[in-house]
Amino acid sequence: MGKLFGLLGHPVGHSMSPVMHNDMFTLLGLNHHYQAFDVEPDKLKTAVDGIKALGISGFNITIPHKVDIMEQLDHIDDEAKEIGAVNTVVNDKGKLIGYNTDGRGFVTSLKQAAGEDLSKQSILIVGAGGAARAIFISLVNMGNTKVDIANRTLEKAEQLIQATTKVTKSKAITIIEAEKCLDQYDIIINTTSVGMSPNIDQIPISLELLKPGTVLADIIYNPLETKWLRIGKEKGAITQNGVGMFVGQGALAFEKWTGQTPDLKRMEQVVIQQLS
Ligand code: NAP
Repeated sequence: MGKLFGLLGHPVGHSMSPVMHNDMFTLLGLNHHYQAFDVEPDKLKTAVDGIKALGISGFNITIPHKVDIMEQLDHIDDEAKEIGAVNTVVNDKGKLIGYNTDGRGFVTSLKQAAGEDLSKQSILIVGAGGAARAIFISLVNMGNTKVDIANRTLEKAEQLIQATTKVTKSKAITIIEAEKCLDQYDIIINTTSVGMSPNIDQIPISLELLKPGTVLADIIYNPLETKWLRIGKEKGAITQNGVGMFVGQGALAFEKWTGQTPDLKRMEQVVIQQLS
């Protein structure tokens, strides 16, 4: 029998997840369906009760529910607890289990540009918000010990460095400090919203000292190529846009729900088609 999966968020009208997952269900011959549900914050508990009552097999959580959902779940995976947010839930025979696939989804996509073993690479994350937190925790848990964080508000970067219990050589720095030592990094990741449409002329950090061959990843996907990535490419960087993270988190959720590995390239094509 076909299963139902969903997305809880507010708003969800522009989400690319339904088309991406439904296309993959069809491709793999699965009689499942993925549906976006617009759930206002004060209706979250009622929605989760409904999911349990209806036996919906799993769901994603997006803004603004990623933190509040945690108190509605029966069990939360350790990494999601560390990140402090859940974006994927599996309904395991009536028990709701929460995961966060954002960070690992990003790292999976990063490996396509930077190679399988990131552990020896020196990494800089620009930004210290929710997405940065997921990426930082996943990178550290996957064995990366040198992941610095630069942020406009330095205290937030410092708090993020302290969010892991693992021993690392990572440090919090200002944007200006990071600009001065940019050539020390093998991988630089923009997790701020700077450069996102409509402010497409802004860049989060100067690339003056960028060394050719550096991997530059921007998690923004609107526009598909930010000004920052364009400058980096001109300076010889290997670039990756935000579609990779979106597809990566969706693919990991898909695997948890179905036990099957989706076709990442196909998912990427479907998302790019929707964006354009
Ligand atoms: P968030 O929690 O609000 O964090 C925003 C970050 O951007 C903070 O570090 C903030 O610095 C910085 N920032 C914002 N405006 C700035 C400015 N004018 N100058 C310098 N820094 C600025 O947001 P988030 O949830 O982490 O999302 C961040 C971006 O990632 C968004 O563009 C979002 O669309 C994108 N995203 C993409 C994916 C994907 O799948 N590709 C997934 C999640 C998020 P302060 O701390 O100083 O305020």
